[in-house]
Amino acid sequence: MDTPVTVIGAGLGGLTLARVLQVRGVPVVVYEAESSPTARAQGGMLDIHDDNGQVALAAAGLLDEFRGIVVPGGETVRLVGQDGVVLHEMAGEAVSGRPEVQRGELRRLLLDSLAEGTVRWGCRVAGATPLGGGRHEVRFADGRSVVADVLVGADGAWSRVRPLVSDAVPGYVGTTFVETYLFDADTRHPASARVVGGGSMVAPSPGKEIFAHREKGGTLHAYAALSRPQEWFAAIDFSDAAASTARVAREFAGWAPELLALITDGDVPPVLRPHHALPAGLRWGRVPGVTLVGDAAHLAAPNGEGANLAMLDGAELAGVLADHPEDVEGALGAFERAMFERCEEAVTFAGAEMVQDIDSEDNTPQAMLELLTQQTG
Ligand SMILES: Cc1cc2nc3c(=O)[nH]c(=O)nc-3n(C[C@H](O)[C@H](O)[C@H](O)COP(=O)(O)OP(=O)(O)OC[C@H]3O[C@@H](n4cnc5c(N)ncnc54)[C@H](O)[C@@H]3O)c2cc1C
Repeated sequence: MDTPVTVIGAGLGGLTLARVLQVRGVPVVVYEAESSPTARAQGGMLDIHDDNGQVALAAAGLLDEFRGIVVPGGETVRLVGQDGVVLHEMAGEAVSGRPEVQRGELRRLLLDSLAEGTVRWGCRVAGATPLGGGRHEVRFADGRSVVADVLVGADGAWSRVRPLVSDAVPGYVGTTFVETYLFDADTRHPASARVVGGGSMVAPSPGKEIFAHREKGGTLHAYAALSRPQEWFAAIDFSDAAASTARVAREFAGWAPELLALITDGDVPPVLRPHHALPAGLRWGRVPGVTLVGDAAHLAAPNGEGANLAMLDGAELAGVLADHPEDVEGALGAFERAMFERCEEAVTFAGAEMVQDIDSEDNTPQAMLELLTQQTG
């Protein structure tokens, strides 16, 4: 390799890749579209699994630091009926392989672990062109360009690197989250704080669901999930926070007020998060000099695995590149074969978690209760 490994995207996948490459002594540069590490709030809790996300952090030499940012009790999951009654609570010991951290803190931990200047901020990639021999010219939106011997697309759902290996584009899966935040909830929204509890809470129903996590500082981070076409959401003016959240809450008419308040009483304007996915089991033939990690390779509707898989992809790719510096093509091929298999397994596995297809007739408190009691005995 004459040039550093060129990574596009400083999300969890790209940063883990960069960190493990540096640990292994391989030069790397990361180009990121955002202007700075703080350009966008990195909200949300992530449970980091002991069979993928934590394996990646171990390869990155960051497990101790990771333990330092775990939110105590955050892994507790409770199942709530539409009337706000808690039906089941899965406490820490049942899910202890999945400690929760704040996404922003995890990203910060990875960023701080990199040599200074590794991430080049404000570099939005417009596209990349093969130059032959596995080399690519990467073009930025501001007109600059770089040449990469090894190019990795870690640029998420709408990857500008993906077209080099596949024509696949993400499609809308039929469900959108309306995301809200309630600050200082124990004081200002006590009923909602009580129903969410100390970790996360889900209130399921076929075609709709409310769920929420407790974040540090008593913040409740909530999502109302609705299976509706994108046109349904487009007809609502989400710049009017009060009217739009009231409209969404009408879809949950009759549910307990403390659950509805998670939708209507947000302290910042609601954010729409439509879910898109790449075709399940997407594969491509080997294209010299380039590969993808994370959502760029296998975007799926949120199933609790995406960030974990992105990190494991990054760590595994770094490992094979460091092990085989003289055989980059062999390394990329081995990485892709393992990644394709891993992602198929993850899709199959997703139903084993507290994650149901929202549209399923089984997305009911009763069915989920049965699933959970089977799992936890
Ligand atoms: C609402 C929601 C909840 C979720 N909850 C969980 C969960 O609990 N657990 C879990 O494991 N997963 C969860 N996920 C999935 C998880 O967020 C993703 O799978 C994960 O972030 C993918 O990481 P990544 O590094 O591949 O991509 P991303 O995190 O999307 O990072 C891509 C990076 O590339 C940059 N970029 C994009 N385009 C360009 C460009 N053209 N040029 C340069 N840079 C670019 C972006 O700015 C970004 O920094 C959730 C997803 C959503 C939407």
